Amino acid sequence: MSGRLVHIGSAVVDFVYRIDALPAPGTEKTASSFAQVAGGGFNMMVAASRTGMKVAFGGQLGSGPNGDFLRAALAAEGIATLTPASTMMDSGNCVAMISGDAERTFVSWPGAESVLSLGMMAPIRVAPGDWVFASGYTLSYVGSRDALADWIEALPAEIPFVFDPTPVISDIPRTILDRVLARTSWLSCNIVEAAEIAGAGDVEAIAARLLSNHSPSAEGVVIRAGAKGCFVRLADGTAQAVPGFKVAAVDTNGAGDTHIGAFVSALSRGVPPVEAARYANAAAALSVTRHGGSSAPTDQEIQTFLGH
Ligand code: ADP
Repeated sequence: MSGRLVHIGSAVVDFVYRIDALPAPGTEKTASSFAQVAGGGFNMMVAASRTGMKVAFGGQLGSGPNGDFLRAALAAEGIATLTPASTMMDSGNCVAMISGDAERTFVSWPGAESVLSLGMMAPIRVAPGDWVFASGYTLSYVGSRDALADWIEALPAEIPFVFDPTPVISDIPRTILDRVLARTSWLSCNIVEAAEIAGAGDVEAIAARLLSNHSPSAEGVVIRAGAKGCFVRLADGTAQAVPGFKVAAVDTNGAGDTHIGAFVSALSRGVPPVEAARYANAAAALSVTRHGGSSAPTDQEIQTFLGH
């Protein structure tokens, strides 16, 4: 039976402007399109939910129309919110400018997310069968990082904790990062963050060092590598490149989020890790063929894509 994913941290409003070319400093451009979508950790939750996992969110969505927008977006995907709104701050948000040739500029503001405290997390109860996920983004902005690290360390040993140090690893104090990595059951990160934590080298060596030096109690490490797919290293010594799928990519935004959501969802159903990584590659490959906000596919779409 599939477990429940408890996502600690991040759901923000993305304001996405498409422009023929990014404006130079001090100049103004008219966008060719505008979209308001839910972002941050939202896409990871959607990927897990659409592939059959129950998902619950623990974090501060903020007040006002942006908070209402996020609450409605979560509800529309069947995602429960565990933490009551307890701040008057506006929601975390991000202005994204994307040019025709896929150059991107982002300005993000954590807003309500930054006030998440241990007290606000009190209503979040985890039970056997649950999986807990947090990302580096949450650790980089949250007001009380120690409190969040304490909460993660206090999770019952049987609860798998999944960590993605992406995207702003340099903003996380090393002592906090080390504590969270030490409690991590499954580490999923892109190759850039992986090398930042474990030092340069080929992907196989980096994955081995992540597991032996940083997350020694983890069951496995997944390093995502764009169109190439991902590399999986398991505690039992398995080390395997899992190739990506050739597709016509139109928007790779959120591919990593889709990958990790689908991976956790498959693991929670008992799919073996390397097969779960292939499933995640398929989910992410489908997502990059679609424009826009929540492009994560359903389990049915992934099964069809895999020819099952
Ligand atoms: P992140 O968004 O964290 O940097 P990646 O860019 O590595 O993550 O993408 C995550 C996953 O999405 C990859 O592991 C791969 O499975 C899939 N993916 C990304 N880009 C492509 C692409 N152009 N074609 C097919 N699959 C892709």
